[in-house]
Amino acid sequence: MLDTIQTQFQELLASNGLQLNERQLEQFDAYFRILVEWNVKMNLTGITERDQVYIKHFYDSLTLAFFMPMEAVRAMADIGSGAGFPGIPLKIVFPHLQLTIVDSLQKRIHFLEHLTSELSLSDVSCVHGRAEDVARSAQHRDRYDLVTARAVARLAVLNELCLPFVCQNGMFVAMKGSGGEEELAEADLSLQQLHGKLERKERLSLPVEDAGRTLFFIRKTASTPAKYPRKAGMPAKEPLV
Ligand code: SAM
Repeated sequence: MLDTIQTQFQELLASNGLQLNERQLEQFDAYFRILVEWNVKMNLTGITERDQVYIKHFYDSLTLAFFMPMEAVRAMADIGSGAGFPGIPLKIVFPHLQLTIVDSLQKRIHFLEHLTSELSLSDVSCVHGRAEDVARSAQHRDRYDLVTARAVARLAVLNELCLPFVCQNGMFVAMKGSGGEEELAEADLSLQQLHGKLERKERLSLPVEDAGRTLFFIRKTASTPAKYPRKAGMPAKEPLV
């Protein structure tokens, strides 16, 4: 039997074309419980109220799927996933995804390995490392249909961290707050250097609370030049602006 929070979550997603079954709703509830339980011993999120986690983490993570056909995506990478956002909610709703998570903090990778095992999610690989280093390996470079990042760095930095993972003609989605437009204004050089083309921009507000969001859909038009990404730390220290 669903409670009010689950019912509202299910209805909000259904009104955006995403239908959740009972198993998926159970997985989200288990995700919430494990997140809050582990958050006591490690810093995973500042948001712990159940209704807030459902909207500000789960629903927010899924918004990109309102605008693109996820059925066409196979290999997906989530860079700087932290406690699993947006990668894990997308994997729950679209179980066919082959998800790779990259994060530079070992304890978060440990949490994500535990989480994916508890939720019985298959085809999820959690990689500990800096995106700048991981993107240098042939296994991950120019390989993913979809790459995502939420709350990791400003867009000019993200383009260098994320576009190297995307396959040619694949998509990078940067999930931003209401200040996304300012970041876009300084992203021209990084887009040009990393062969990214802004294809679509979507603005939305999270339901319940008026929190603005901007999603940038960036198409990769050619393979990444050998000099990118620069060595770990450089994209943030000296952004391509
Ligand atoms: N994406 C999650 C979210 O929306 O809640 C986590 C956001 S958290 C603020 C940023 C995460 O990115 C952290 O877990 C951090 O370890 C990771 N991170 C930052 N820079 C990174 C890099 N260069 N390579 C890999 N992970 C990175």
